[in-house]
Amino acid sequence: MEKRQELFAGKAKSVYATDDPDRLILHFRNDTSAFDGRRVEALERKGQVNNRFNAFIMGKLQEAGIPTHFESLLSDDECVVKNLEMIPVECVVRNIAAGSLVKTLGVEEGQTLTPPTFQLFLKNDELHDPMINESLAETFGWATPEQLAEMKALTFRVNEVLKALFEEGGMLLVDYKLEFGLFHGKIVLGDEFSPDGCRLWDAKTREKLDKDRFRQGLGNVIESYEEVGRRIGVDFG
Ligand code: ADP
Ligand code: UDP
Repeated sequence: MEKRQELFAGKAKSVYATDDPDRLILHFRNDTSAFDGRRVEALERKGQVNNRFNAFIMGKLQEAGIPTHFESLLSDDECVVKNLEMIPVECVVRNIAAGSLVKTLGVEEGQTLTPPTFQLFLKNDELHDPMINESLAETFGWATPEQLAEMKALTFRVNEVLKALFEEGGMLLVDYKLEFGLFHGKIVLGDEFSPDGCRLWDAKTREKLDKDRFRQGLGNVIESYEEVGRRIGVDFG
């Protein structure tokens, strides 16, 4: 596999072409952003930690029959993935109220959500990722009703697999964001699953172990990501 030109540099990862049009290389950088990119800092080891963390989770999801873009680890901070045509919609499942749900609806943080709730957001930094719904996604052609139904079903299947995994490690999976894309017309989970894109609390103390440590200036951000990884069996090399 030959690494070719950089196609895109996002806020946390860079995407490279390869000699295979169906494959890309994702480079996990140390850059960490919050508040729509208004705050950016490089956190030492984050690229490596999230690359390994993501590989581990994608493996677990694949084992559970969820189609993912992940192919193989390439280096400490790079992996090979399927080249997806990304759908510009973020799928969020919440098991416990936190973050924007608390801010926009005025509900109490920490309240268990029964049943877990599902939201769609448009992936658009300039517009601050506004909340959308199936009707808007269909009308504006961001995704078809069939694609949306499949993305929703897969996002809830991920919840069953990962809630149990984190529970075994003494943690609560509060919420998370997934992105999907099309590979030869088929819906496949893309992007990453790491503590950058989910909320994880210690089950006993409810200590925050995810990117909220960065957002809220709590310190020990990467140490917490590593702690989460150790508790679920990620091999950090
Ligand atoms: P952001 O877009 O939020 O700045 P990143 O820095 O993580 O995020 O950038 C990674 C980019 O790569 C995102 O735009 C994401 O949608 C895209 N991406 C992730 N996985 C794939 C894939 N398998 N194929 C094509 N693009 C992908
Ligand atoms: N999330 C993300 N990227 C985004 C928006 C949200 O990874 O662009 C994740 C976030 O880390 C959390 C979940 O999705 O785990 C729900 O986020 P929320 O809507 O509460 O937004 P926030 O307040 O975190 O911006």
